[in-house]
Amino acid sequence: MKNKLKFLAIVLTMFVLTAAGEKEQKPLNLIIFIGDGMGTDQVYAGMTASGFTMTFPAFPVTGFSITYSANSYITDSAAGGTAISTGEKTNNGMIAVRPDSTEIPTILEIARKAGLSAGLVSTSTITHATPASFVAHDASRGSYEDIAEWFLKGTADVFIGGGKNHFSARSDSADLTVELKKMGYDVVYSLPDLKNSTSNRIAGLMAEEGLPYIDQGRDTSFLAAATAKALDVLSRNKKGFILMVEGSQIDWAAHDNNMKRTVEEVLDLDRAVKVAYDYARKSGNTLIVVTADHETGGLSLTGGNVKEMTVSGTFGTKGHSAVMVPVFAFGPGASAFSGVQDNTELFHDFVKLLSLKK
Ligand code: MG
Ligand code: ZN
Repeated sequence: MKNKLKFLAIVLTMFVLTAAGEKEQKPLNLIIFIGDGMGTDQVYAGMTASGFTMTFPAFPVTGFSITYSANSYITDSAAGGTAISTGEKTNNGMIAVRPDSTEIPTILEIARKAGLSAGLVSTSTITHATPASFVAHDASRGSYEDIAEWFLKGTADVFIGGGKNHFSARSDSADLTVELKKMGYDVVYSLPDLKNSTSNRIAGLMAEEGLPYIDQGRDTSFLAAATAKALDVLSRNKKGFILMVEGSQIDWAAHDNNMKRTVEEVLDLDRAVKVAYDYARKSGNTLIVVTADHETGGLSLTGGNVKEMTVSGTFGTKGHSAVMVPVFAFGPGASAFSGVQDNTELFHDFVKLLSLKK
């Protein structure tokens, strides 16, 4: 009897410890990957073409995100990005403002206020809807030069992407890089200079407009290297960091109904995720969430061969579609991302897991 009680006590203690341990599964750092336009068919096309060697589809937690916007069953990247960055649905075309144009605090702004560091990496212009949703507030996603001015707030300690023209070849003749340098940013224009920078603040303006597709000359190491550099800089902050990395051209390729490019761009995003995954495994305190703002192209995989690693598909539209998009999560707190959730829930999960206050 005594032994039995002792055994029961041990089992109970173990159970309580496990429960407490699970409760304290909170990350210090958060890395968000957004594959613009990346639905499940885009992901599975990439998986097939890679011989099932992709990193993020192997993450332990998967879910779905519902993407409709405040004014449309089919969202665009502005409203989709805003839902993820602010937890609120807005109208298509709007950047981190409500339909009445009032500003909504973003996860990056909230994190910076709490002393965390923040970064943005994108293969489009850094002023484009997806990255803009995390640092800017504008009723019109096309106001690129106005959006560029938001970077002077210093919300993102590191930002790397295209869009140099929106900073220094502007219609008002202002050169925002002068101000950025005064703020302590190392402003770099090439991958070697980016890699060599030792600054705690980096503005990487890697192309005049968006970066080209991979098959039109974008370095296949760019997104992974930019992610590595951002992690190198942001991880110096012991209070933690948030980094958002976007694979922008998945969307553009799918708008063009170009299967080959769509696959290439998905695999490119995965190379960047691999860098983050290696970091997260080492650090042990980093949550990675990979998702999309919406699906593009209404892609349907209609043929393929696993052994030959080939895949073919047809596109149902030149625009976006309404389907739910996948969510993949790894690291402490990942379980919050299982199941079907509204895209706005991602933000609320981020805030809760990082113990931030809205
Ligand atoms: Mg985008
Ligand atoms: Zn699009």
